[in-house]
Amino acid sequence: MSAPISEAFTALYGRAPDGVWAAPGRVNLIGEHTDYNDGFVMPFALPHTTVAAVSRRTDGLLRLHSADASADTSDGTAGTEGVVELRVDALAPGTDPHWTAYPAGVVWALREAGHPVTGADLHLASTVPVGAGLSSSAALEVVVALALNDLYALDLPRWKLARLCQRAENVYVGAPTGIMDQTASACCTAGHALFLDTRDLSVRQIPFDLAAEGMRLLVVDTRVRHAHSDGEYGKRRAGCEKGAALLGVDALRDVPYDGLDTALAGLGDEDEVRRLVRHIVTENQRVERVAALLEAGRTREIGPLLTEGHASLRDDFRISCPELDTAVDSALAAGALGARMTGGGFGGSAIVLAETGDVETITKAVAAAFAAAGHTPPRTFEAVPSAGAARLA
Ligand code: ADP
Ligand code: MG
Repeated sequence: MSAPISEAFTALYGRAPDGVWAAPGRVNLIGEHTDYNDGFVMPFALPHTTVAAVSRRTDGLLRLHSADASADTSDGTAGTEGVVELRVDALAPGTDPHWTAYPAGVVWALREAGHPVTGADLHLASTVPVGAGLSSSAALEVVVALALNDLYALDLPRWKLARLCQRAENVYVGAPTGIMDQTASACCTAGHALFLDTRDLSVRQIPFDLAAEGMRLLVVDTRVRHAHSDGEYGKRRAGCEKGAALLGVDALRDVPYDGLDTALAGLGDEDEVRRLVRHIVTENQRVERVAALLEAGRTREIGPLLTEGHASLRDDFRISCPELDTAVDSALAAGALGARMTGGGFGGSAIVLAETGDVETITKAVAAAFAAAGHTPPRTFEAVPSAGAARLA
């Protein structure tokens, strides 16, 4: 992929790029909405990547171009499909409603942290579906951060680049997301899922080579875009914080699974908060159980935990939608080992764990169930645990 993107860069900017970098989208295997509760998550990287050709500049200009600008769903206005030119010393949070806020936010976050980034020319091209819950936003941020880290010899560790990308998304773009997506894109390795403790950012690479064990993981992109999910996300987040405060803990991570009943009883008539707490505490335990099963080579047994996680997100956290439920229910009815929605919710994608021999039957059954329910046809593809961000050229 580096040859065509270098040519495109040269055509745009009249010189060859200094280098080419790639960062992947991700699927979260288990651990949903736990990352802002100091909990556990277990994403893996997709083979789909955002690739950036980049050159340094020393004159304070940041020039941005994306082959996929038309996929921008941020505010629906046109005008960012050509090269967008910004001044690095004029970057200010909350001022850019377009896709350019993501890369500009990374430059802003680096400069705010004291790193002397004096400009860049960037051209981007991506195969990560945008707005599908597969984290095209983190892929975009991380590829820019890694490129600037190399070009400016900043020597920042991956976890720190992820933190700066999260800051770009939270503060500059204004989207209140946890640390999972950026860490996944920056730190995943091929053939593994990444067990991440979001409290101290420690990670464990967990072997996850399904093909070798006769299984596959399917992603069902419902094509329902989660455009209005920010408000709901904020509400869940605030509810979790309220739960932690009522229970007298720093974060819901600190409520032990075997103390859950007592904790729930202690929440009095706070029914909404009780449901949120129950999801987070049981979900953290599911992540630990999935990690233990995978490390013990008992991969098939994770299926029921994925399905349990879906029920918890649907009934307790209440962030599923009819299309996600159709994907999960029809896949299970057709013989899947387990299935759940993945990502923030209200659309996006579901994942399905299946025996290799059942993939075709399940894919057809899901498509038929969508047709019968009158939903837009889903896009189903296989997800192979792939490499994290890297320099390509
Ligand atoms: P997700 O991360 O689930 O794909 P988000 O809403 O978090 O969804 O991020 C999608 C937004 O990220 C798009 O609307 C666009 O602004 C930006 N984006 C992602 N990838 C690209 C790209 N390759 N080119 C331009 N903008 C992109
Ligand atoms: Mg995102």
